[in-house]
Amino acid sequence: MRKKIVAGNWKMNLDYSEGLALFSEVTNMVKDEATGNQQVVVCSPFIHLHSLAQLTKGYTNVAVGAQNAHQAESGAYTGEVSAKQVKSTGAEYVILGHSERRQYFGESNELLAKKTDTALANGLKPIFCIGETLQEREAGQHFDVIKSQLVEGVFHLEADKFGQIVLAYEPVWAIGTGVTATSDQAQEIHAFIRAELAAKYSQQVADDTTILYGGSCNPKNAAELFACPDIDGGLIGGASLKSRDFTDIVKAFN
Ligand code: 13P
Repeated sequence: MRKKIVAGNWKMNLDYSEGLALFSEVTNMVKDEATGNQQVVVCSPFIHLHSLAQLTKGYTNVAVGAQNAHQAESGAYTGEVSAKQVKSTGAEYVILGHSERRQYFGESNELLAKKTDTALANGLKPIFCIGETLQEREAGQHFDVIKSQLVEGVFHLEADKFGQIVLAYEPVWAIGTGVTATSDQAQEIHAFIRAELAAKYSQQVADDTTILYGGSCNPKNAAELFACPDIDGGLIGGASLKSRDFTDIVKAFN
């Protein structure tokens, strides 16, 4: 059975002590909410990872992730952080291919395929993000864009790697805008992604892969989104910075 996940993406917010304080609040509030195959993941800036990972000890359903990792194993890449370094903090996950990385740092599908390989080789679980821009949706290209992000980003992997990968559909026009995809729009894309997984690999791989929705997900709309058959949770930006909102989104699992 695939995992249900609510993951927070703090982006470049919170200094060290603010991050620890928020995480302590969140773990306390969600510890009895995420049960069984439900998992809460907090993806923080690198500076918090080790301390947050220490704080997850004792919670079976709370994990920590990074928001990026370099494609090389190690080397002269001043300012970068490797997957092995991320893993050594105790982090379990890493977001790859977020649209902000694609847009502001020029990350291509080809680069992201390499980052995915390196993350997996170092025992990290990628949360691989895909999604179309408003312009692409208005031009009716959203299915093509998502298909090529999948094909070029992750479809080089062997089927057994999908046990370690989470996909996240984040329409760029819904990120940080307050405009959420309707549950019909999101479900349509999630079903498409699952069908592509079934066609490329197998129905088993499709059924076992967690696919999250991200983009202006909040306590008001989370329950309706998560009730869709192919939406297995959310990747939460702004609302993950408030412990009450984030916890209410985790509660929307049930
Ligand atoms: P918002 O929830 O702030 O729209 O951000 C979504 C996101 O980018 C999560 O990765």
